[in-house]
This record gives sequence, C-alpha cells and structure tokens, in this order.
Amino acid sequence: MSEECATHLPSASHINAHLIDLLNLDRTQLREFLAQRGEPAYRAAQIERWIYRELATDFDAMTNLSAELRAWLRENARIGAPPVLNEIISADALTRKALLQLDDAQTIETVLMLYNDAPNRDESPTRLYRRKTVCISTQVGCPIKCPFCATGQAGYIRNLTPGEIVAQVLHYARIDAPLTNVVIMGMGEPFMKFDVTWQAIETLTDPKRFALSARRITVSTSGEIPGIERMAHKRLQINLAISLHAPDDALRDVLVPLNRKYPIKDLLGAIRKYIEKTRRRVTFEYALMDNVNDKPAQARALAQMLKGMLCHVNLIPLNPTAQSPYGRTPYARVKEFQTVLQKAGIATTLRVEKGIEIAAGCGQLRQSVRREKP
Ligand code: SAH
Ligand code: SF4
Repeated sequence: MSEECATHLPSASHINAHLIDLLNLDRTQLREFLAQRGEPAYRAAQIERWIYRELATDFDAMTNLSAELRAWLRENARIGAPPVLNEIISADALTRKALLQLDDAQTIETVLMLYNDAPNRDESPTRLYRRKTVCISTQVGCPIKCPFCATGQAGYIRNLTPGEIVAQVLHYARIDAPLTNVVIMGMGEPFMKFDVTWQAIETLTDPKRFALSARRITVSTSGEIPGIERMAHKRLQINLAISLHAPDDALRDVLVPLNRKYPIKDLLGAIRKYIEKTRRRVTFEYALMDNVNDKPAQARALAQMLKGMLCHVNLIPLNPTAQSPYGRTPYARVKEFQTVLQKAGIATTLRVEKGIEIAAGCGQLRQSVRREKP
C-alpha cells in the first residue's frame, strides 16, 4: 500500500509522550538506549526479563537495578500499558474484549478468548483453560474498508507502533497468564506496515522476551502480496491466514477491496510460492454472508480453486455489524457449503463463534463507543 503511516511514536497530548516507550525498542535499540548512561549489555537483558517475563509496568519493581538507574529510567522511559476505556465480558466469561486507549487518545480493541475444550464440564470454572488466545490489532481503523467489517466501516486513522501491538498481549498476560496463542486478527491490515508487525512478532517469540512459540501465532491478511512474499523468507514459523471470502474477482473486488490491487490469481500464485518455500499449511478464512457468497456453486468454485493446495478453509458465519449490508448465512446452509468443500477433498473447520453477544467481530466495540459519544 502506498499510504504513509506513522511508525514513530505518534504525536501525543499524553503527559508521558516525551518518555521513550521501551516496548518500541528491539534488543539493539534497548542496549543503545542504556549505553547512553554507560550501562552494560546485560542490563538490557535484566530489564527485558522484568518487562516480558515478570510483566512489570513500573521501574520500581526492578529490584536488581540500582536506585539511581531506576530513577533515570523513570525520568526517561516508560513501559507502555494503555488504559482500558471499556471492557465487555461474555455471559460465559470465556471471552472478554477491551477497548484500550493510546497516547493520542485513539482506541483499539484487544480480545481474550478462553477455549475450555477439556471434556469434563464439571470441573471448577477457575480451572486452567487449555487455550488462551489473545486477538490483537495492528492499526487504528483499517484502510482496506471491507464493507462487512466494523473496522473497515469506521475508516482508517494510523498504524500502530510495535510497542502498541505488543502492549495488547502484555495487557491480557497480566490479567490471565499464561497465554497460549496470539492471533493478529483484530483491527487493521497487519502487512501494510510489515516491518512494524514483524518487530512485534519477534518480541513476542524472542526466547529472552515473551518467548511464545512461533507456531502459536497466526497472522491474518486481506491479501497484501508483498507481505506474504516477505513472510515466506522468514525463519519464524508463524501461521498464515488469508481472508478470501469470495471465489471470484467480481465478488472479491466488492467484499475485500484490496482485491482490485491484488486479484485472486496473483494472490494464489504468491500463496503457492509461500507453501512451496515453507511447507506450511495456509488457512483461508471465508465469512459466510447470506445469499452473497454462500451458494453451492460458489462452494464448488472455491473447491476447484484450492484443489491440491496445502490448506484448509475456516468457515465463519458472518457476525453482522450495525451498518452491515450483509446478513449471516443460516446454519443449515453453512453445513451445506461445508459439505460441498469436504466432498471435494478440501479440509474445513467451522469457527467456534466466540462472544457473539459481546459483538466480538473486529471493530464493533470501538464502533459502539464512538456512536454513543455526543
Ligand atoms: N485485516 C486482516 C486481519 C483482521 S480481520 C484481515 O482481514 O485478514 C480478521 C478476520 O475477521 C478476517 O478474516 C476478516 O475478514 C474477518 N471479519 C471481519 N469482520 C467480520 C465480521 N463482521 N464477521 C465475520 N468475520 C469478520
Ligand atoms: Fe481491514 Fe480486515 Fe476489516 Fe477488511 S476485514 S476492513 S482488511 S480489518
């Protein structure tokens, strides 16, 4: 995308704006920052441990640093921890979504989803969940403007910084550690500023930082081909998901407008190369919209298109937004669509719907709060 986004710290009215957010610094930058004060490299490792393992937000907690260094850090730096403006929790308490406020007063959504897929339902609700997934945003709004998506409907403001991306994971890690998975499927197109997203991923997977296995991270793109090509050459084994949503260009041009720039043929070509290079299975996301993209003929076209590819299709019944022109496909037809794919030998999953009652579709909490404002 040609659009210029801020990768630097946003100009902020916040009182802490002059302080360096340590979450924005990679290891080399952190060492350089501390070297200004003559601190040795191992000091960076100590601080990383406090931030990413002990989840500290306050330099005073860093008891193995001298009082002078802690005072210097307080004067010059901070550990980004965006305050919660609003939070909704589903009735079953398995999904919670926070609206976090950034330094320039913009807001983003971050979701925590607990998957208690253990068979024993009698166990105490406080037992450990098998999967604790955080869904994070990469932009304030989104320039792709998919018409069925609340984030797209709200327009685009700016890219997040690496620190603002990582801060979302740390937020829920502080509340409910240990997290098991991260999905980059919140607001925004993560490959629009590839380097920013990738720096955040490196911090999350760095064994001396957040130390999450790369295999437990999934990044979802609307089809930004240069990002897919760059990811193919990365060492980290992050999972790739592609928001497909349509089996032909005419429909995808409408549902995912980035298709006008990167049409299906080119997109599939880039994905085939990615699979060849990485030998990793790709997920195609397909949100089923009533009488739009859910007909059996469309399922057949989709199956034909994906035949022989190392992939699987994740079917998601649409979560209609307040301004959405589209409705959700009824369950019986979702199953019908799935059967066509399965019979053609395409692996499918039906996304377990989380937190529909708390408007879990990306951008919906932010949209509702904006609407309530005078
Ligand atoms: N922008 C990226 C990642 C964030 S969106 C992308 O589009 O891939 C994450 C997924 O949620 C995408 O597949 C997106 O198409 C889907 N999505 C967005 N709004 C939705 C809605 N209202 N109902 C169902 N899925 C939705
Ligand atoms: Fe952006 Fe993804 Fe929403 Fe499309 S679905 S508008 S790419 S966040």
